[in-house]
Amino acid sequence: MEKRDMIYEGKAKKVFNTDDPELVIVYYKDDATAFNGAKKGVITGKGVINNQMTNRLMAMLEKDGIPTQYVKELSERETLVKKVDIVPLEVIIRNISAGHFASRYGVEEGIAFESPTIEFSYKCDALDDPLLNAYHAIALKLATREEIEEIKKYAFAINEKLKAFWKECGVILVDFKLEFGKLPDGKIILADEISPDTCRLWDEKTREKLDKDRFRRDMGGVEDAYAEIMRRFMAREV
Ligand code: UDP
Repeated sequence: MEKRDMIYEGKAKKVFNTDDPELVIVYYKDDATAFNGAKKGVITGKGVINNQMTNRLMAMLEKDGIPTQYVKELSERETLVKKVDIVPLEVIIRNISAGHFASRYGVEEGIAFESPTIEFSYKCDALDDPLLNAYHAIALKLATREEIEEIKKYAFAINEKLKAFWKECGVILVDFKLEFGKLPDGKIILADEISPDTCRLWDEKTREKLDKDRFRRDMGGVEDAYAEIMRRFMAREV
């Protein structure tokens, strides 16, 4: 597989064309941003962790019948994935109150929900990723009704798998963000990453944060938290 020109550089990843028009290579950087790019930094080693964790989780989900973008890990930081058109929605699933849910609705962090919640934001930096509902997404032609139904079904199924996986690592899956992509034939598949950048992960016993909130909130111990979550991940992973 030959790596060609860079077609996109985002906050945490670069994407390159390959000699196969249906495949692209993703490169994971150590760059970290928060608050829509207002806060910038580096989390040393994060790119390697996020690449490897994403790939292993996607392979696990794929085995469980969830179609994903993952094809093959090429190196510590590079992965071959299916080229998709990203559906411009951030799909957020929550099991426990935290982050924007807590601030928006004026509740404390750490309240366990009886059932998980789902919400969508419009992926648009210029507008600061505004929250929207399925009707808005359809009106804006970001996705069709059928695509949104498919995305919801996958997102809740992924939550159940990931919750169970992390529980075995002694970790609570508080909330996370997913992105989906569309293949040329219109099929919806899971895209982007599943990592401590995109999930809130708390130690089951101490409720210590083992994710990007340590960076967002200047809590210190960011690299150590990423290393610790990866250690538990690899210990459980078969
Ligand atoms: N999230 C993300 N990218 C974003 C916004 C949120 O990966 O641009 C993740 C975040 O890590 C958390 C979940 O989505 O696990 C819910 O985030 P929330 O809406 O509370 O916003 P945040 O406080 O993270 O900005």
